[in-house]
Order: sequence, then structure tokens, then C-alpha cells
Amino acid sequence: MRNLKRIGSLSLLILIGTVLVVAGRQRQPPTLTPEQLARLQIEQVKDGLYVIPGFDGSLSGGNVAVRVTDNGVIIVDDKFVYSHEFITAQVRSVTNQPIKYVLNTHHHSDHAGSNADFMADAEVIAHKNARANIVRNNQPGAPRIIFADETAVYLGGAEARAIHFGRGHTNGDAIIYFPDLRTVHTGDLFIFGDRLDGSTLAPFWDFGNGGSAAEWPATLNGLLELDFDTVIPGHGPVLTKDDVREFRNKIEIVLDRVRAQIDAGATRDNIASRVDTNDLGWPLAPVRIQDVYDELTAQ
Ligand SMILES: [Zn+2]
Repeated sequence: MRNLKRIGSLSLLILIGTVLVVAGRQRQPPTLTPEQLARLQIEQVKDGLYVIPGFDGSLSGGNVAVRVTDNGVIIVDDKFVYSHEFITAQVRSVTNQPIKYVLNTHHHSDHAGSNADFMADAEVIAHKNARANIVRNNQPGAPRIIFADETAVYLGGAEARAIHFGRGHTNGDAIIYFPDLRTVHTGDLFIFGDRLDGSTLAPFWDFGNGGSAAEWPATLNGLLELDFDTVIPGHGPVLTKDDVREFRNKIEIVLDRVRAQIDAGATRDNIASRVDTNDLGWPLAPVRIQDVYDELTAQ
């Protein structure tokens, strides 16, 4: 009886899970205002490089970099599960070349959501931990090709290098570097500005997917050793190398403040009330501060 009950509730859980996953995969794009839609149109960053803008994880997704060559197109990230048609149309507005490669900055479904659709005609490439996260989280579109530290795609005279500098936002973050254009796409290791709904972005250490606040600054130090002047963040406007430095410094400030309060006897329950980050322009939820507390006290 007990076993039967257990089997019963287990099947119910599986059923609910399946319904949720199917619902997630079939989700339709949200209705956007003409003003919001206008902000999401493809724009040129440099010669042969464009961005399809993304400002958040719910309405507009991540920034998509579009590297156009005479032998095809390389894109970085592919927004949501329903975004294949939108991205393809945006790319079509600047070139007739087909999309041949998709590089994922990480597994989150606002960055790698439409992998499965692109894999019909293109190769999707991600860090091995990003692929593992896609599989573990039951997301569609697990890439056929992975890498550990670094890989590159050479197409039509262009080079797109994917480099894993360590943990930060997740355990599978890759920076995509276009050396000839001195430009990087950072994924969510660096985000900036306001969401499409007007709220402010702040960094997210996704511990459930191997992220690390403590290791994030060192990961960005690796990125900062590259030669670049232009930065496409995971979300937000196109920025500069100095903006990445400032972001890195602000994460160190958060870590220093939490460390100082731990040394002063703070507990997990009161740490969030003792660490203020408003002056940094980051509205960090109390649980994010508690995450940092957990990580630093576990070391
Ligand atoms: Zn993310």
C-alpha cells in the first residue's frame, strides 16, 4: 500500500514535471510593445559584427552576437526556446549567408534556449559543463560538440574563439572572443543596465549550476588579459573593457563586505541585513548575499 502510494505520487510528480517541461518548450513569445520591439532589432557593432539586443532573462533574452562572413554566419547564443524564427529573420536582414555555427556562452534557457532548432542546420558548441547543465536540467538542444578550456571556429577568414576562464555565473561559462575585431561576448559573466521592464540587472551566482561568487573576479581577470576594446555583455548595451573592470571591482567589494561581516560575527540569518549593496547600483536579493555567506564560510 505504502509502496503503491509512493509509486502513485512519483508518477504524479513525473506527470507534472513532463507537463511543465512541455509547456516550457512550447511557450510562445511574450507580446511586446512597439517601443520594446524596436529596441530588439539587429544593429551593427563593427564591420562584419552585429548584435541582436537582449536586456533580460524573461522578455528579451540574452544578447546575440552575429559574425557575418562570405562563407556563412557564426552567432553567439540563441535566446529562448521560441526565438529561432526571430533570430533567423534578424540575421536575414543583414546577410543572405546561412547560420553555420552557434556558440553558447552558458546553458541558461534565455541564452541557449533554441539550440535544438538551430542544430537542424548548424553546429552548436558549448563548454562541457554547459552541456552537462543542459542535460541535467532537461533542456532541449544538448550540443554535439563540447570543449574544456578553449576552442575556436574559423570561417570565411573570421575567427571566433571560445574560452573558459573558470567559474562565475555558472560552472560552464565561455567568453567568445573575436580577436580581429577586438570584441568579446561575455555571456552573463558581465551584465549591465536595466531590463526591458525597467528594473535593474545585478550579477547572479547560480550555485545550483556550479556558479561561484568567490571565483568570479579571477575568471574576469583571465578575460581582462585578452586584447579587446568592445564588449557585448550577456544582457545590456555594448560597452568597453573599463566597464568590465568596474564590474569585477564591484564583485570584489561585495565579497569584501560579506567577509568583513563574517569576521565580525554575522550569521546566515542576519548577513543580508548587515551588507548593503545599494551604493553599487545592484539590487541583490537577501538570498544572493546568503549564497555568498555560504560559499565563503564553506571554504
Ligand atoms: Zn545566465
